[in-house]
Amino acid sequence: FSKHGIFVERTLALVKPDAINKADEIETIILKHGFTVLEKRRIILTAEQCSDFYSEHYGKKFFPSLVAFMTSAPIVAMVLAKENAIQQWRDLIGPTNSNVAKETHPDSIRALFGTNEQKNAAHGSDSAVSAEREIRFFFPNCVVEPIPTGPPATDY
Ligand code: ADP
Ligand code: MG
Repeated sequence: FSKHGIFVERTLALVKPDAINKADEIETIILKHGFTVLEKRRIILTAEQCSDFYSEHYGKKFFPSLVAFMTSAPIVAMVLAKENAIQQWRDLIGPTNSNVAKETHPDSIRALFGTNEQKNAAHGSDSAVSAEREIRFFFPNCVVEPIPTGPPATDY
């Protein structure tokens, strides 16, 4: 927040297990693109936590292997702040399938660090509603609303 209480959009970024050894390199790219890293944790998800995080995909064919993959090694979770952060971060990671990303967005993080439709190096929230939920999931104490710092409104 600036001292005037202007909200800068936040999003949740994950470095997934397949790219955990590239987490520092990915953070350098994030900073180079003008994001601020407000919060950062390195954790290993349990299957239960991972199923909760990806509950929108429950019942899909790839769900069990997605949970197995995402719990196979540590991940890095970050809260990123920037103007239009949600869309900017989705653009920087590129298409979901890393094989597609290599063809169409060769400079994207999923092209550079991912392998296929599942092992795709990174996650980004897909909407403001998702970002709020996902930030709270990993950082329950993270402030996701702007703090009003100006004088209170006056009624006439
Ligand atoms: P995104 O991460 O781009 O928002 P989705 O929400 O559709 O993509 O899927 C969540 C994650 O599940 C993907 O990032 C990927 O790791 C995995 N996934 C998606 N589709 C498939 C698939 N068809 N087969 C295997 N894994 C998949
Ligand atoms: Mg998604």
